[in-house]
Amino acid sequence: MTSERFDLVVVGGGAAGEKGAAQAAYFGKRVAVVERREQPGGATVHTGTLPSKTLREAALFLSGYRQRDLYGVSVEVAPHMEVAKLVQRKNAVRELETDRMLENLARHRVELVHGDARLVGQATVEVTDDGGERRQLSADVILIVTGSSPFRPPGIPFDDPDVHDSDTILEIDRVPVSLAVLGGGVIGCEYASMFAALGTDVHLVERRAPLLSFLDAEIIERMVAGMRDLGVTFHLGERAETVARRDGGLVCTLPSGGAIATEKVLVTAGRVGNTASLGLEALDVETDDRGRIQVDETFRTSVPSVYAAGDVIGAPALASTSMEQARVAVCHAFGFAYKQEVASLLPYGVYTIPEVSCVGLSEEDAVARGIDTVVGRAMFRDNARGAIIGDRDGMTKLVFDRATRRLIGCHCVGERASELVHVGHAVMTLHGTVETFIEMVFNYPSLSETYKYAAYDALAKLGPVES
Ligand SMILES: Cc1cc2nc3c(=O)[nH]c(=O)nc-3n(C[C@H](O)[C@H](O)[C@H](O)COP(=O)(O)OP(=O)(O)OC[C@H]3O[C@@H](n4cnc5c(N)ncnc54)[C@H](O)[C@@H]3O)c2cc1C
Repeated sequence: MTSERFDLVVVGGGAAGEKGAAQAAYFGKRVAVVERREQPGGATVHTGTLPSKTLREAALFLSGYRQRDLYGVSVEVAPHMEVAKLVQRKNAVRELETDRMLENLARHRVELVHGDARLVGQATVEVTDDGGERRQLSADVILIVTGSSPFRPPGIPFDDPDVHDSDTILEIDRVPVSLAVLGGGVIGCEYASMFAALGTDVHLVERRAPLLSFLDAEIIERMVAGMRDLGVTFHLGERAETVARRDGGLVCTLPSGGAIATEKVLVTAGRVGNTASLGLEALDVETDDRGRIQVDETFRTSVPSVYAAGDVIGAPALASTSMEQARVAVCHAFGFAYKQEVASLLPYGVYTIPEVSCVGLSEEDAVARGIDTVVGRAMFRDNARGAIIGDRDGMTKLVFDRATRRLIGCHCVGERASELVHVGHAVMTLHGTVETFIEMVFNYPSLSETYKYAAYDALAKLGPVES
């Protein structure tokens, strides 16, 4: 068996793996990334973020959703033909992003090692390639960024070709006539709205009500209303007790006594850490009941030379934060005087139809913390760009602290929400106040201008600055 020495061995070539590796290499470290898939990219590129967002964009385009109200264009989605186009587009984006990652790793002289990795010591990783050939890589630091996989609750017949998780839903060959989505988290809501836009009769079952309770309630109300307009039927406060094949279709039974009959079922019930085959038990690296690795605030595990970041350590399990966690982990591991922590202000993007994005405190959270809040709102229907693009229901909502006049929460729903939120994000990062927006000049026509009018709305309630 061959054996080689590196400063850092990164286990997993997803979003976190790429960025952690590049960070160490940037500071002159010799780095290897081990990836078991043929190509790097992980869930971000192959099964999660980019495929789902590309499908969403393609669904909006092919269904003529954005044009419907403006030009009265009605588009019939032909199931077989459209899936071929959706898949083609998804694959094109995947190739572009994979090429970019390969180029970035090569530019940083990071060695990409293909194979299945397993830790055989506190400083040694054993890699087995497809042909069974083994190789050992030793390093001062090991960074585990192996990501997560869909959790498959017991009792659901995943061997049925029409029962999917968020990985296998990407392999369908026709747009289903009807779909039950079991689980109303971010992924469930995103797929529910996407299929509804394509004309599928969608039923969303979620045992918690309200949905996505970590987001501002008023924004979620608008999101739910938008999804209802698309045709999604919500079954909140319910959970599917059984899923069984009956009369050529699938039937989910609900505790209320009801049943939902659909062509397909998509189960989105959370994720489990990809740690089962890593050999962590022998090293005493602590994991929880869902296989997620336990780390401290520097992303170090219970073994000092082993760090972990990204989805494999659990929430928030976003590509955006995973990349940053890996960079911070590497800086701590090697003592670089660089990124010492992940920013405390994290944006969230939910790519439902309509799109939702936020940063900072929701109005409810701010009130619960005892902050005297003042809220300003601006509707897209009162905004020139909103009128042009035909988004009448979008909204920018700003939450200010009355005492300091500072922006403490920013919430957007509607077209481009996940882009728009970063105006508020930047202002919050720089400790801006309501006056920041009043003084700024925004492009006209632009959705960003809603910030100015949401700020005027808040100003009317705040009154002038006391001298
Ligand atoms: C449907 C869906 C939609 C999403 N949408 C968004 C979004 O809009 N925005 C957002 O920020 N995030 C989104 N996410 C989350 C995002 O995809 C993840 O947070 C991100 O991919 C985590 O990156 P990672 O590098 O930690 O793990 P991964 O991307 O999962 O990468 C882990 C890599 O490790 C490899 N690996 C695992 N075990 C081994 C082993 N033993 N040996 C070698 N290699 C191994 C895997 O093959 C994989 O390539 C979404 C996720 C899903 C499922």
